[in-house]
Amino acid sequence: MRYFTIEEFTRSDTASKRKINNTPDVHSKRNIVSTIDYLLDPIRKQYGKPIKITSGYRCKSLNTAVGGASNSSHMYGLAADIKPSNGDMATLQAKVLEWAKTHLYDQIIIEQPDNKGIASWLHVGWRRGSDRSQRRQVLIATKVNGKWQYKVFSS
Ligand SMILES: [Zn+2]
Repeated sequence: MRYFTIEEFTRSDTASKRKINNTPDVHSKRNIVSTIDYLLDPIRKQYGKPIKITSGYRCKSLNTAVGGASNSSHMYGLAADIKPSNGDMATLQAKVLEWAKTHLYDQIIIEQPDNKGIASWLHVGWRRGSDRSQRRQVLIATKVNGKWQYKVFSS
């Protein structure tokens, strides 16, 4: 835990507005630490500039409130949605895809890309268990008629 805190991983405007208690339990807290140690910190280090977490841990009611997938790894503290603080997503995305070639992760998702393929935000996910359980999938997600559709990304 170098560049990120549990606080910024659990903070949520939607939770505050709707008075949802988004405090992680001890298991989720442990997962949050793994997600930061294995994904967010190394990505932040390679990118070299500030990154903000737009959505990290989501308790069940928060996940429902934001329209997350019913089995979302956000509910276990094992995923984070990120954006570059300076708004330059093209550069962050390129760095993350480069990082992905040589590191372990479960999923990286390019969410709601524009017509140039640049994400609206990036989802990074970790899986509990051994190194082998990491699937190293890079996907593109688009919402069509209110439903998320996923495609495998190929560079
Ligand atoms: Zn996500």
